[in-house]
Amino acid sequence: MAILPITVYGDKILWEKTKPVKAIDDELIVTIQDMFQTMRNANGIGLAANQVNINKQLFIVDVSPVEGCEHIKPVVMINPQIIETSDEIVTMEEGCLSLPDLRADVERPDAIKIRYLNTDEEEVEIEADELFARVILHEYDHLIGKMIPDRVAMEIKKEIQPELLHIAQREINVDYPITLKT
Ligand code: ZN
Repeated sequence: MAILPITVYGDKILWEKTKPVKAIDDELIVTIQDMFQTMRNANGIGLAANQVNINKQLFIVDVSPVEGCEHIKPVVMINPQIIETSDEIVTMEEGCLSLPDLRADVERPDAIKIRYLNTDEEEVEIEADELFARVILHEYDHLIGKMIPDRVAMEIKKEIQPELLHIAQREINVDYPITLKT
């Protein structure tokens, strides 16, 4: 297994729509293992493939380190589709491994239904709510090229602009490997 460098704000791959996974082969399984190691090394609770420079519709979520979420098992979601979202919208502060040190309030549906392939190539449909739903939606956003700045109110986006520039310039202290500036 390997800890991979995490892409950060400004890396083009984070703005691209990712491509569907065609084969769940040994190479992909190794990638998934590397992603788990990379996420845990950075104390993250979710990681999308394009955050480790891989253009694929795949993300992992593990909210079990969070108090109250210990019972929720880590999941790998391949080619996910959000099929339902609740009308109830909740606001919560979010962070992102690709936006080191940045925190911002993001509105998201409280509950979702999502369909995806697991690593055994089985189609799975689950319901999620609260933090679990939020992290899934955050990671799903990565797969469609969206990040926190695309989900906040215009005035917040303006406020965080200087921080975003610092991140893109790597003028940040971060205790996990990130990509080099291109
Ligand atoms: Zn993120």
